[in-house]
Amino acid sequence: MLIVATEAGAALNQVHRIDLPRVVLVGRGVLESLGEVCQELGLERPLVVTGKTTYKVAGRRAVSLLGEGGREVQQVFCSEADLNTVERVKLEAESMGADSVIGVGGGRTIDVAKLAAYDSDTYFVSVPTTASHDGIASSSASIKGLGRPYSKRANSPIAVLADSKIIAESPYRFTASGCGDVISKAVSVRDWRLAHDEIGEYYGEYAGSLALMSSNLIRRNAQLICERLEEGYRTLLEALVSCGVAMSIAGSSRPCSGSGHLFSHTLDVLAPGVALHGEQCGVGTIMMAKLHGLNWRAIRESLRVIGAPISAEGLGLEPETVVQALVGAVEIRPDRYTILNKIGLNDESARDLAGGCGVI
Ligand SMILES: [Zn+2]
Repeated sequence: MLIVATEAGAALNQVHRIDLPRVVLVGRGVLESLGEVCQELGLERPLVVTGKTTYKVAGRRAVSLLGEGGREVQQVFCSEADLNTVERVKLEAESMGADSVIGVGGGRTIDVAKLAAYDSDTYFVSVPTTASHDGIASSSASIKGLGRPYSKRANSPIAVLADSKIIAESPYRFTASGCGDVISKAVSVRDWRLAHDEIGEYYGEYAGSLALMSSNLIRRNAQLICERLEEGYRTLLEALVSCGVAMSIAGSSRPCSGSGHLFSHTLDVLAPGVALHGEQCGVGTIMMAKLHGLNWRAIRESLRVIGAPISAEGLGLEPETVVQALVGAVEIRPDRYTILNKIGLNDESARDLAGGCGVI
């Protein structure tokens, strides 16, 4: 779906383009519809990008379903989300004359497939095997080697098939991380509104409301998620897709990436590979919520019920690393105005904040 809309308050000749997925399937067993969905979209020469483990979980089945329609389908494995891998997949897509790149795997595989599709000017189809972050339906991808720890824009997926049966079989830690990423929107939407009030940045009420609603829904369904019930998984997947849609409507990651994310990006530099993106965002959100004057205790409680980390120890980090990340977060992405610009943190105030929230 393509909507061309005028931004609220912008001159009528200023338009912004909103690209949304054309097909979104969420539920048990939706992987089985992959062939039909590609048929419907006219995708005839797909390249499947998958990981070694995710191949066994869903990649092999995806290739077989796509082959049933007489399509020329090929597969490529990826283990890293770096620029070399993206280039390798892009060349593969070009050499087979692919019309689409289908990412079947976890966050890294999805990001590689998304960027390779963008670089080879083909359609991207997202088939996530984990629900660890909102990249499953968004237009942005996190890739190593860009010289910055935050994401790069690409195209939104033309289709998303989020199979809750597959997600339910993935390690629960990924699911809890995805919840942390969604819950963090409570703060990112506040940061966005603050940027609007303080520096006149464009604020989209619709995109902001959608991201906030997703955060509230996850918090309300925390118990269902921790009990690992189908309804909980579906709610999470729908929330992750909605966050992707909110970013597409906003035309940037603004509604979904605020000060909690800046804290997480800083940790990615200070302590790479220790905790997951959504886990870090969740802990950051507890502290940023306190800075915003929000009910940070309620946010912490939701994360606790879900089983996501709520402390430095839970993240596997030293307390001092958390303090350094709090102080450094304001520098990591200077173009993104958040509560951290309004309330400058130094070593002492950062330590007080983290200590006051029980994070250290
Ligand atoms: Zn995120």
